[in-house]
Amino acid sequence: MRRHAGADGAPVLSVEHVGRSYPGGVRALDDVSLTIGRGELLAIIGPSGSGKSTLLNLMGTLDRPTTGTLRIDGQDIAALGDRQLSALRGQRLGFVFQQFHLTEGLTATENVATGLLYAGTPRRRREPLAREALARVGLADRARHRPHELSGGEKQRVAIARALVNAPSLILADEPTGALDSANGEVVLKLLTDLNAEGTTIAVITHDRDIAARMPRRVEMRDGRVVADDGPQAIPGGTAQLTRPTLRTPS
Ligand code: ADP
Repeated sequence: MRRHAGADGAPVLSVEHVGRSYPGGVRALDDVSLTIGRGELLAIIGPSGSGKSTLLNLMGTLDRPTTGTLRIDGQDIAALGDRQLSALRGQRLGFVFQQFHLTEGLTATENVATGLLYAGTPRRRREPLAREALARVGLADRARHRPHELSGGEKQRVAIARALVNAPSLILADEPTGALDSANGEVVLKLLTDLNAEGTTIAVITHDRDIAARMPRRVEMRDGRVVADDGPQAIPGGTAQLTRPTLRTPS
């Protein structure tokens, strides 16, 4: 499996004292710090309005912080122009959305291959890599199906294959089971857990406490701040060996 090396074992993601204000004076994030080490699986949890989407947009380099620093694989994103940032996004990050966001006219393989469009992968390599990724999510036998021929759970597995096809440093999954019934949600959660066991770093953004409870690490947000964080976890052979108090609660 190809995998991007971080600069000198730098964390996959580091958010350092980040603030994000919106016009009109809404302070959506206030002094948020968060480090994600290679190989982690974590949930970012909080009620509606707590700042999860704002943080997700920053982590996904779709938005820039008003204050503070954000690094991906050790690279300060403030130093990058928009083109460099979208290249970094295409190569280092994978996205999974609640509503799948598959392209209707394309087969499962073609949908997965779109995950390579911005990663600089030569055209002839895209289909074999897409098929490999589909096999990893257990959908080798659905390669030629189009989204309307797939169940919700299968669609999300295709979307997960698209997110992992470029061997990203980090997968950001936004309420990945939110549109699924509980049986399909279970399959998707197990898949994310299995992929993590194989070494993929995954952050799940959710308001669902039951899902968060099953993750090895939980980062809890409220009113734009991190109010509890029971990680990072020590990953055998990984880089997340920072030690911190087991739980940080608001003072
Ligand atoms: P969550 O994803 O946890 O529901 P958000 O990050 O969407 O939280 O929102 C955090 C706060 O920022 C909320 O008070 C919300 O109303 C506000 N907010 C979010 N996006 C914008 C925006 N584009 N303009 C102004 N305020 C925003």
